[in-house]
Amino acid sequence: MTQNRKPYPAGGRSWDDLKQDMIARTADDVNWRGGRTPLYVFYNDEATYEVGRKAYFEFFSENALGQKRAFKSIQSMELDVLDYGMDLFNAPASATGAFTTGGSESIFVAMKSARDAHRAKTGATRGDILNIVMPDSAHPAFDKAAAAMDLDIRRAPLRSDKRVDTQALKTMIDDHTMSIVGSAPCFPHGVVDPIQELSDIAQDAEVWLHVDACVGGWLAPFFTRIGRSTPHFDFRFAGVRSLSADLHKFGFCPKAASTVFFRHEQDLTRSRFRHDAWPSGVIDTATLAGTRTGGSVASAWAVLNHLGETGYTEAARNLAKMTDGYVEGICAIDGLKMHSDPDLTLINFGSDEFDIYLVAEQMTHRGWLAGLTSRPKGMHAMMSMLHEPSRAEFLSDLMECVETVRSGTETQSELKAVY
Ligand SMILES: *Cc1c(COP(=O)(O)O)cnc(C)c1O
Repeated sequence: MTQNRKPYPAGGRSWDDLKQDMIARTADDVNWRGGRTPLYVFYNDEATYEVGRKAYFEFFSENALGQKRAFKSIQSMELDVLDYGMDLFNAPASATGAFTTGGSESIFVAMKSARDAHRAKTGATRGDILNIVMPDSAHPAFDKAAAAMDLDIRRAPLRSDKRVDTQALKTMIDDHTMSIVGSAPCFPHGVVDPIQELSDIAQDAEVWLHVDACVGGWLAPFFTRIGRSTPHFDFRFAGVRSLSADLHKFGFCPKAASTVFFRHEQDLTRSRFRHDAWPSGVIDTATLAGTRTGGSVASAWAVLNHLGETGYTEAARNLAKMTDGYVEGICAIDGLKMHSDPDLTLINFGSDEFDIYLVAEQMTHRGWLAGLTSRPKGMHAMMSMLHEPSRAEFLSDLMECVETVRSGTETQSELKAVY
């Protein structure tokens, strides 16, 4: 290995030289601009992209850590973004929120608060292993938070429509349950869990309910408003104690940007870290990150104000229409079926007749990165407007790949689902 290690650079290379080098390195990247990535990248339109990019670079040197003392600009934009979220998610006057670097951090922060709230209520201490009861489809960010905080995870089964079986989930709650979870929507199947039912369960059992609206939170309310069947999922349900929603997914804001909201201001205090143990004075942060770029905050503020009510409503219309087109096209291919009826633009389809991973393999040969699910075996795509121009080509490639698999002799693919 050591032979391949790069020597420390001598320096002095010009921007032109560096740029050329960097662009050459993209040669084997998946063509995301051409809609070949079924995850990782989100895009609405060129104007939104440019607003985000420009706002980001206006403030990329400013440090959001210093917003209270040095950068009131960042502080005011961050507070605005959090206000917008609390308005969108029907948060009560008692609510508050925090800006984070992503869904994983938002979830960590929420689970830290839930743990400390449970400890405060029950007197549980360090040695007591608490648990989170969540749908089988919930994001592994919860497992990561649990691994870091020494918590147990219990995954509840899904119903046939891929929403969590709330009765089964209820039976998994015990005295050590510090939180239950619902996704809005979940990543694997793109459907919103029955948040109303989970809210009732949370209230009955007096347990914390976190709604993970990371992927679609900033867009889903607009799907509801244009008359889609996308259900409500927010603080209007009294049992919802915290909610995470990523700006850098269907908020169409540059990475790294997410939000986490709490029904009670006191709950954010539980995740806040305020400490005065070293020689440089008090450190006080609401989230995990210390230094973080002001660019994320500025670009989120700018994109939200650029799109606003009108822009996200239009985005919802365009995306809903596009998703319908994909679903129709997929269902028209003999042997394929949808695994769920999508509440947003995350689709998952498979087959009862052949191994869908074989189709995914064929699609990979044609430059389409495979998005796969394992339970059940499915091809998965989370689509934004990048995927509209490529729709016809995707569907015709898919049809041909299905034909290849049907007429071939292979029965089992060696592919593995990777997120
Ligand atoms: C993406 C995602 C997360 C994690 O967010 P990151 O920004 O990738 O850390 C959590 N939950 C759901 C449902 C997601 O789709």
